[in-house]
Amino acid sequence: MATYKIAVLPGDGIGQEVIPEALKILQVVGKGAGVGFEFEQGLVGGAAIDETGDPLPEATFRLCEASRAILFGAVGGPKWEDAPHERRPERGLLRLRKELDLFANLRPAKCFPMLVDASPLRRSVVEGTDLMVIRELTGGLYFGEPRGVERMADGSAHAVNTMAYTSREIERVARVAFDVARKRRKRLASVDKANVLVVSQLWREVVTRVGQDYPDVELEHVLVDNCAMALVARPTRFDTIVTENTFGDILSDEAAILAGSMGMLPSASLGGRTALYEPVHGTAPDIAGKGIANPIAAILSVAMLLRYSLDMAGDAERVETAVLRVLEKGYRTADIRQDGTSPVGTGEMGDLIARELSALYS
Ligand code: NAD
Repeated sequence: MATYKIAVLPGDGIGQEVIPEALKILQVVGKGAGVGFEFEQGLVGGAAIDETGDPLPEATFRLCEASRAILFGAVGGPKWEDAPHERRPERGLLRLRKELDLFANLRPAKCFPMLVDASPLRRSVVEGTDLMVIRELTGGLYFGEPRGVERMADGSAHAVNTMAYTSREIERVARVAFDVARKRRKRLASVDKANVLVVSQLWREVVTRVGQDYPDVELEHVLVDNCAMALVARPTRFDTIVTENTFGDILSDEAAILAGSMGMLPSASLGGRTALYEPVHGTAPDIAGKGIANPIAAILSVAMLLRYSLDMAGDAERVETAVLRVLEKGYRTADIRQDGTSPVGTGEMGDLIARELSALYS
């Protein structure tokens, strides 16, 4: 029997509540598909700072390196907000992404039919939305050099950040995007600002060249300002989107509102040997400890883990179907509740999905 080692890093706040539900689901998959999962927990974020002083202790990093995939919760919270830069919880996640070379961040935004009314946008706009934003994660404006602030004697100042990409960095994320688009509806929109930025001109040149290796995928180039408008005006026109770090940061959050709630959105960060899967949401201090967080984002992250790290697409689909069926039956956590329905808690939602999933294997 194949056995996969999974690093489990719940982190802080509701990370501690939703990850156990995701593990319940993996256990059902293991039984149903006849594979073994070996879960090993690691400390990260605020929990790791409290125990070791470091948001990413060496032991956690070694565990991640030695695992097939990482299941991550969320990090941060008011307790650590005033900590110095290097000792802030999110440094743990940023270091992990950088050191594991996780350069491609995949964020699906799908509007579930029964949750259309949970979106702040009109039904006619969001209905049928099913898109994937692929954001370059380790380059561009957030990492480019030089950067810094120069303060003058007269009290004025000058600050600089640099948007920089090499053709190699663009090519590798473009290949991930074409591969993903090929498994979806074979349409890829590459988003840039090529009418103004030379970095974007290189981006467009390289993506076009890589596209020649994928003649079955239809490629279009879209300017970022146009894309931002189209995402809220006609999101169904998109299937797969690929873009650089900063544009992707903004566009993927914009796309998130199409799905109705943060509690529904999974993500994957790919690139190096070990990929990382996490819900898009944070630690939600306002509801942490109450047992009411929606575990679906974490559970759908498990589906992504199965699809992208273990090549178990059929099992990933079963997990997604189980989620859909539970929602179809009318069960809702508080964040996606409709008028008049009484919500289920985190553990109950996890149990319902696990039960539905077991039935799909029998
Ligand atoms: P958040 O995503 O934690 O919460 C935003 C809102 O969405 C809150 O009202 C919260 O209750 C709700 N929400 C989020 N996830 C939910 C779920 N699963 N079920 C039900 N409701 C849910 O964002 P925030 O409030 O801006 O940040 C809180 C903390 O999380 C901060 O310390 C921030 O730095 C951290 N954070 C961490 C990550 C990460 O680890 N990747 C991402 C974002 C924010």
